[in-house]
Amino acid sequence: MNPVAQRSGWWVLAVLVLVRAGVASPPPGRAAVAPGQVARLDDRHGLLLEAEPLAGEGLLAFAERLCGDRSRGDQVEGVRGPGGALLAGVRYGVPYDCLTPTMRSKVVAALFPGGTPTSAGWRYRVPGSGRQVSGLWELSEWLTGAGENFGAIREHNRLVDETLSGEQVVVVPASLLRAPLRALVEGVRVATPTSNELRYGADREGEYAGYRLRPGEALYSSVVVRFTGRLFAEEVNALAEEIAQRSGIADVADIPVGFEVKIPLDLLTPEHLPPGHPGRVEYEAGLSESAQYTNKISARGLDGVTVVLDAGHGGRDVGAATGGVWESLYVYDVMLRVRRLLQEKTNARVLTTTRDGASYVIQDRDVLTHSQGHAVLVTPPYAIEEGRVGTNLRWYLANDLLERERRARRDPEQVVFLSIHADSLHPSVRGAMVYVPGLLPIPSEYGMSGVVYTSRREVKSQPRVSFSRQERVESEGLSRDLADHLIQQFRRSRLAVHPNQPVRDRIVRGRNSRPWVPAVLRYNGIPAKVLLEICNLANAEDRALVKTRAFRERVAEAIVAGLLDYYDVATTPSQVAAAGR
Ligand SMILES: [Zn+2]
Repeated sequence: MNPVAQRSGWWVLAVLVLVRAGVASPPPGRAAVAPGQVARLDDRHGLLLEAEPLAGEGLLAFAERLCGDRSRGDQVEGVRGPGGALLAGVRYGVPYDCLTPTMRSKVVAALFPGGTPTSAGWRYRVPGSGRQVSGLWELSEWLTGAGENFGAIREHNRLVDETLSGEQVVVVPASLLRAPLRALVEGVRVATPTSNELRYGADREGEYAGYRLRPGEALYSSVVVRFTGRLFAEEVNALAEEIAQRSGIADVADIPVGFEVKIPLDLLTPEHLPPGHPGRVEYEAGLSESAQYTNKISARGLDGVTVVLDAGHGGRDVGAATGGVWESLYVYDVMLRVRRLLQEKTNARVLTTTRDGASYVIQDRDVLTHSQGHAVLVTPPYAIEEGRVGTNLRWYLANDLLERERRARRDPEQVVFLSIHADSLHPSVRGAMVYVPGLLPIPSEYGMSGVVYTSRREVKSQPRVSFSRQERVESEGLSRDLADHLIQQFRRSRLAVHPNQPVRDRIVRGRNSRPWVPAVLRYNGIPAKVLLEICNLANAEDRALVKTRAFRERVAEAIVAGLLDYYDVATTPSQVAAAGR
């Protein structure tokens, strides 16, 4: 949904509420979500999505598309007979509880623009900027069904009066909300993986989250990696030690099953904070806001799509180097394989940010020969001397490509940016993981100085970048959508994927430093952009695999399947391997 529609939706509602002043207003009823999709709210059914099947779509595919699960077909309303066929042009009801998280967000956003369920209650951001748009009474009537609740809302938010102004945020506590909205807020409280597993408390040393270890669980992988978001080996071990001491554990290798481990609150990632904690509420709100934005462009065979492929590091920056494996060589090889597949099997336009030497050559061998010939393809090219400069020139290059797409009147959403890396993390973690640009604070304007930058055409034409909050929210939504498709295809290919949170929106490192988003994503204007870590080089199994052509080709196939799937539906890696153009 675009902000204009949200705003006009608000005005329509505000007018309706004013006309009906003094009368309990009916639930908002219906709102369009997308072509062929309507969100509905009524007292009997609660929240519902009414959706038409796609051409030729059966019940199982319909359920998979909207619910993420084929077995949910029996919960679709209006289907005649068991396993009955779907009719074109007919809308079938899908209960809210059956929908995928993304579809849920869209339903809620359509019916209640400007609002998001959080563990603290319904969080509503007043549209507009600076001007007074409406009062608390109207808001109360809309969200709670009774204007009289305005006083309680005012008290809860410690507001000075009953007027609201643009961008103001108001939280309506769950106990006051209309039943379906209250159910959504309660859903947020129980949907998090930790709510039943973490017990929050406080002792002399401060607030903590308690977790009881299960048989076979280790402190570093089941507690530190999972709840603190830390992944780097030294830090994981140091925090495991710190948590052990705080919990009164003498021997980390011998913790009794069921023993309560105490994790200091300030170490937890936001989604693991106690329900209603300001840090968690802020995070949940950002998540539900960005989830309203998913790819809307359909492009069979990637027709009209530009894929920007970025192999991490290169040149003198070899990246992670573990057991003689240079990250730079192996991710460049995967990038070349993705490029070849895209060129042979899709209609996508493929651009790369780097090249090793004068042409693209795929080595037909398992263990790759060393090379430091990679250059970033800015004008003139930058033979990579320093990793940081190489990274910054990549986002300049990406922004330049995007600008040219815009001038050619192509939709920025037809461009994707994929950065390919390999991790060097705690050896206990395995598999692929994707970073997306989360809504962390960034400078309002940013640019590099120094001749290594200013001598490049791409820097000269756009020396500084800045992004609006709205652009960042949309970009996070599209990037998460892309990341989910990539991870799904990795799973379908039986490639290893991180067990906890394979899609991450931040890197957390250091006891007291702020989390951050990788620079190549942070200042990159391409809306759909991800950084994919194909495996963990510090894990012996992953490292052995990456040293084989077969594995790298499988990874490339999964990536291409993910891209095809993002712009179309129902693509599998084996189809990519088999398909001709
Ligand atoms: Zn890397």
